[in-house]
Amino acid sequence: MDNPLLLIIIIPVSLILGLVFVGDISKTVYACPKCGTRFRAKWYKYLLSGHYGEDKVLKCPKCGKKCRCAVSYDQKL
Ligand SMILES: [Zn+2]
Repeated sequence: MDNPLLLIIIIPVSLILGLVFVGDISKTVYACPKCGTRFRAKWYKYLLSGHYGEDKVLKCPKCGKKCRCAVSYDQKL
């Protein structure tokens, strides 16, 4: 980087984009295929978990089973 001004712009912009991305993740509602519980995944669990396209391998907060959860069609809890 020759231009320090570019860094001054890029760092806050990437921080904001990161926060928006994380905020968006934590709003996504997943449904447990075993018991049907709908829940939101914590962003760090989201990042740590495996995924199959839209589906995520998450631990259900109700039955405690770790399974492949699909994004819920209803995003309201
Ligand atoms: Zn469950």
